[in-house]
Amino acid sequence: MAEPLLRVENLCKWFEVRRGLFSKPLYLKAVDNVSFELMRGEAVSLVGESGSGKTTLGRTILRLLEPTKGRIIFDGKDITHLRPKELMWYRREASLVQQDPYGALPSFMNIYRILEEPLLIHKVGDREERRERIFKALEEVRLTPVEDFAFKYPHMLSGGQLQRVAIARALILRPKLVIADEPVSMLDASVRIEILTLMRELQEKRRISFIYITHDLSTTRYFSEWIYIMYAGHLMEIAPTKELISNPQHPYTQALLAAIPDPDPENRKRFRKVPPGEPPSLINPPPGCRFHPRCPYAMDICRREEPPMIDLGGGHRVKCWLYAKR
Ligand code: SF4
Repeated sequence: MAEPLLRVENLCKWFEVRRGLFSKPLYLKAVDNVSFELMRGEAVSLVGESGSGKTTLGRTILRLLEPTKGRIIFDGKDITHLRPKELMWYRREASLVQQDPYGALPSFMNIYRILEEPLLIHKVGDREERRERIFKALEEVRLTPVEDFAFKYPHMLSGGQLQRVAIARALILRPKLVIADEPVSMLDASVRIEILTLMRELQEKRRISFIYITHDLSTTRYFSEWIYIMYAGHLMEIAPTKELISNPQHPYTQALLAAIPDPDPENRKRFRKVPPGEPPSLINPPPGCRFHPRCPYAMDICRREEPPMIDLGGGHRVKCWLYAKR
């Protein structure tokens, strides 16, 4: 059986929020016991509301944040506790596309320098080879004629064009893994699908493993083979994209889908119940299932015991007591 490119085992990222003189430390458990595998060339959408822990999970996987517990195995190597110097090779293999292209790209550099910087840091090629790579990267993200774009500065480009530069920069070292954190949420609706389609094309062409982080479940169908649903620091449901959209099992996933306007009246009727309330505090999360205060199906056991991840077959897994054989 093929080895996954990325294996995340019981990963936790907790932030210490206060340490009283005599009291125990308190932790905000942004990511709590998350496990999954990502195969080579596979695209996954990681979906959840703001504050669900999805950005923290992405940054912890990239080792931009130090994991609290658990393990991250990348390409057969345990990278969980590598020191910054030992992480140089990983920085080349795994990159990030950020939400805000305006903030992510240095305003004092032109596009050519922005794309050349990672090549210089990682000592890739001579001047001519770097030039070729930069022009090819601009062509791939369709910023043409490339000679025009290469010497412009970020303030001279639109949001969509800047995000194309950010994608080119994330791909220029030919990474095996890219994590894109809400890459289209700050862009005009008219260019969102264009950018997602471009990322998907490049992901397929280069066989990159991709994690697309989003709060917008409606955009995932353009992008990924798998959807992971995250809530309050936990993965709640994992399934192939079509299966999850057509046959959601977790009450939270059903609620997320219900929030998407659906032109089909049949689908509109299926999931009418959007649970009221807010995600819980991650410093003092509710016992049992973290979704129980909002769940219309909550039972006694849900308030006492955390549900296990239950395998429904075909890669579909759900963390919910409704599906446990008891
Ligand atoms: Fe609802 Fe219980 Fe399932 Fe949690 S475990 S989602 S509370 S039914």
